[in-house]
Amino acid sequence: MSEGAVQCPCGRYIANASEYKMIFLKKELNEIDILCPNDNCYLRELGYIRFEMKEGKPVFKEATFYPPFVTWNVSQLGKENANKHLKDMLREIVTKHITWDLLVKPETK
Ligand SMILES: [Zn+2]
Repeated sequence: MSEGAVQCPCGRYIANASEYKMIFLKKELNEIDILCPNDNCYLRELGYIRFEMKEGKPVFKEATFYPPFVTWNVSQLGKENANKHLKDMLREIVTKHITWDLLVKPETK
């Protein structure tokens, strides 16, 4: 286990924010799901990112990990460490790994 890695309760270590899978399913809710990189994960959804559309452009609103994932890491790494790593990862996902341009779609086609 490398420094700074967090772990999904399924056992998968996640050392870098780029390892998460992101899917944009809930278009009407302006929500992007953050998924575990493990295809066989029983949790699947580890968190979400919400944004709002302003003048046709997505504007970041909030990002969070779900309690089962957070609680697991708190029990593994300690509260302070876990919260720091998870916060850093969310920030990285939002700033580096979301292709915001892809969220912009023509109104009509
Ligand atoms: Zn998992």
